[in-house]
Amino acid sequence: MNISRFALCETPFYYYNLTLLQQTLDSITAATADSPNFHVHYALKACVAHEVLQIIAQHGFGADCVSGGEIEMAHQHGFAANDIVFAGVGKADWEILRALDLGIQCFNVESLPELEIINELAARKNLVARVAFRINPNVDAHTHAKITTGLNENKFGLALEDTLPAIRRAASLTNIQFIGLHFHIGSQITKLDSYRELCIRINELQSSLEEEGIFVPTLNVGGGLGVNYTAPDTEAIPDFASYFTIFKQELQLREGQSVHFELGRSIVAQCGSLISRVLYVKEGHSKRFVIVDAGMTDLIRPAMYGSTHQIDNLSHPEAPKASFDVVGPICESSDVFATDYVMPTPQRGDLLAFRSAGAYGEIMASQYNCRRLPGHIAE
Ligand SMILES: *Cc1c(COP(=O)(O)O)cnc(C)c1O
Repeated sequence: MNISRFALCETPFYYYNLTLLQQTLDSITAATADSPNFHVHYALKACVAHEVLQIIAQHGFGADCVSGGEIEMAHQHGFAANDIVFAGVGKADWEILRALDLGIQCFNVESLPELEIINELAARKNLVARVAFRINPNVDAHTHAKITTGLNENKFGLALEDTLPAIRRAASLTNIQFIGLHFHIGSQITKLDSYRELCIRINELQSSLEEEGIFVPTLNVGGGLGVNYTAPDTEAIPDFASYFTIFKQELQLREGQSVHFELGRSIVAQCGSLISRVLYVKEGHSKRFVIVDAGMTDLIRPAMYGSTHQIDNLSHPEAPKASFDVVGPICESSDVFATDYVMPTPQRGDLLAFRSAGAYGEIMASQYNCRRLPGHIAE
């Protein structure tokens, strides 16, 4: 990071390390090189910074979108239409129509009413929509409740036992082509055994569908691979080799079957930091507060998920260490980045970096309190 340049920048802002992004993408490419039937789609919702998207598209990844806006973003950044998939429980008519016009690869369908509407809208345009059904495999991802999605009682997807009737219904609709099954069990998954469990469920489901004479061309195993938030420098690139090895070993693939992955966080989290300036150091009675110019409006993860980010003092990394609560200026008591956090003692004007903020950081920023949205630098 070129901190002398940062000194002239308006804070807060996001900083993206594009070299690390390239290395991360190369690591994924290397880990899947021996599996030509593996296709990785980037989940746009993690980060859509222009430079970041451009590099991911140039790397030949597909795009996993959850809104018409994201489909537009992917399209504008050079992702091929037939590499775009569209997920989400509440696809609006205009979003479905736009996706049909572009000729995207697949709709990941999450309910039967949605299937009927896609069929109807496709019929109106004389097109056939390719669909995959999102199934809840009932696998516990052992992650935060707000980011667990693969359990049965969940707004996402269809229950396991509804798979066969859904596929039958799809086969009876003239403007629908069934091309696969989709699973996404959660986010920030660090227990890789959850993926092993997912593979077992998929194998069982596949066998039972085969008995009914059904072949599933594409298996989409979702995303969710976690990153190391506590020690980003020791694990700047997630262990993609171990992650993909599980699927290579456990998934019982059929001839001609392809496997899709939808990674978001693990691709972009470590390459981004939120850079903020210290406004005040306030001496409380039992605590000391570092008040910074970034708030939950710039990085909501701590307030929303109780997550933690490593905080570096870029201006005085060698200052004596002490314990602080690091807080933002927003009028909400949840606007706290860290409590009792030991760091090099900051002073007014110091630049701090909130690390591992590339995923679900800038894209989740809001203007609450009439604040300006943070900008970004990518280099
Ligand atoms: C959010 C999401 C992803 C990406 O999740 P990460 O944890 O960022 O890898 C993939 N697929 C679907 C359907 C999602 O909703």
